[in-house]
Amino acid sequence: MDASKQIKVVVVGAGWSGLGATNYLAKQGYDVTLLEAAPYPGGLVAGWKTPGGRSVEGGIHGFWYPYRNIFRLVQELGINPFTPFTRSSQYSPAGLEVESPIFQNEPRLPTPLGTFLYTRFKRLPLIDRLSALPLLYAIVDFDNSNEAWQRYDKVTARELFKQFGVSARLYRESFEPMLLVGLFAPGEQCSAAATLGMLYYFILAHQPDFDVVWCRGTVGEKIFQPLRGQIEKAGGKVLTNKKVIDIILSDRGEAKGVVCGKEIFEADAVIFAVSVSGMKKIVDNSSTLTNHSEFRNLTNLGGIDVLATRLWFDRQVNVPLPSNACFGFEPTTGWTFFDLNVLHDEYKDEPGSVIEADFYHANQLLPQKDEQIIAKVHGDLATCVPGFKQAKVIDSSIIRVRQGVTHFAPGSYQYLLRGKTSIPNVYMSGDWIITNHGSWSQEKAYVTGLEAANLVIERFGLGNKAHIIPVEPDEPHIQAARTINRTVRNLVESFLPDFWLP
Ligand SMILES: Cc1cc2nc3c(=O)[nH]c(=O)nc-3n(C[C@H](O)[C@H](O)[C@H](O)COP(=O)(O)OP(=O)(O)OC[C@H]3O[C@@H](n4cnc5c(N)ncnc54)[C@H](O)[C@@H]3O)c2cc1C
Repeated sequence: MDASKQIKVVVVGAGWSGLGATNYLAKQGYDVTLLEAAPYPGGLVAGWKTPGGRSVEGGIHGFWYPYRNIFRLVQELGINPFTPFTRSSQYSPAGLEVESPIFQNEPRLPTPLGTFLYTRFKRLPLIDRLSALPLLYAIVDFDNSNEAWQRYDKVTARELFKQFGVSARLYRESFEPMLLVGLFAPGEQCSAAATLGMLYYFILAHQPDFDVVWCRGTVGEKIFQPLRGQIEKAGGKVLTNKKVIDIILSDRGEAKGVVCGKEIFEADAVIFAVSVSGMKKIVDNSSTLTNHSEFRNLTNLGGIDVLATRLWFDRQVNVPLPSNACFGFEPTTGWTFFDLNVLHDEYKDEPGSVIEADFYHANQLLPQKDEQIIAKVHGDLATCVPGFKQAKVIDSSIIRVRQGVTHFAPGSYQYLLRGKTSIPNVYMSGDWIITNHGSWSQEKAYVTGLEAANLVIERFGLGNKAHIIPVEPDEPHIQAARTINRTVRNLVESFLPDFWLP
């Protein structure tokens, strides 16, 4: 038997990060058990069937052009789950505001010129768009280093945009809607560091970065089912309905077991792959983790509520583009809607429209009854696409995800965890874990899962580390600007070290 079979790894949480870590370690011959509290793997991206047999999920998930590690995984699995790249548009209560092309089909220009010139704004005047130019300095200055996070994290996104002279209209109609969808919170509640990192990764680093594909069904069915199959084929175990409540430490202060109700799973290493709020609950109940300040400090972090709705209509309504973002309907909530007749194979031949509408920072919507939520979604949809006024809702699914997504609040960086913890054989992964990789959301969750698997491999010296595809390098002019900026900054700091607030 392979010597590494003896090494037991317990992974907690079966989202992108936990599935990624488990898959890789199982393939390297580790004895891996993945424990998931919910009845299905997938975490925020889980999908399941309604009692009536229709597919639903906790929100639609896009896969952006730079998701290179996820695209490679899908290739390895030999599956073809994605739509072609799709165009998207943006609506406000006044109607259509913006249409995006498929940027990779347009002649390539040095970033950010392509984003600026090819995005079709219907109403936003040029003068407002031009007011974004000074912000380029912050984009260059924020290079995702630890120092850059320290410099920008305690400032809110709104203050950042104000400092750099962004017009009120550009902020309201462009940047804040992006924040509500990308970081799930309004500008005054987002860290400027997270804002710059997210905008650079998804939009600004290279012209095609904003191009996006969607799964042709639920991610649960199209990607996680085959992934689970591969994990099990490699000898890994995926156990659902297993809620972890604590870990057991040895006399040497290393993890030796994971407590799950009355069961104990022996472990030579543990990888936590749960959300911030999931981790806070584990720490709260734990007799061991509370002795470590980094875990106690997680009480400083928070999650954000989201609402995922799916409505079936009695007739087909023509929706111009399949993916759409909306702003201006509620002051601190953003939302998106998707034409599933176009995106999902299952709904292609449905006689009526099937629309997914997801709301971010949706705390004030969650207490409403399902019927009230359905009426609101229907009304807002009809504001964007008037054809929905006449259509009737004949079925629906309402999923409330409380505190589900990470809140990158100003000042939160100091409390985020890294892959390695103060417990030598306990590792962290997930979309909120600090990594130098530069990715965000699902890709980041998957990458940090691989990074945690690599830390396990480093510890035990068995197996080969995963090759993690880095993000595409900065374009030459951005590299040059960053080098000059760093040189000047270092020079100033050599005269006045630690004088200014970071
Ligand atoms: C509505 C919505 C839309 C989104 N849209 C996009 C998008 O378009 N593109 C994109 O890239 N990202 C998107 N995201 C973000 C994306 O879903 C996350 O970044 C990603 O799924 C996080 O994966 P994760 O593995 O870090 O954590 P999670 O998916 O949160 O997985 C953590 C898992 O841990 C489990 N768990 C928690 N506590 C315990 C416990 N005590 N014991 C055992 N298991 C436990 C949970 O049940 C869960 O399965 C969206 C999120 C939402 C909610």
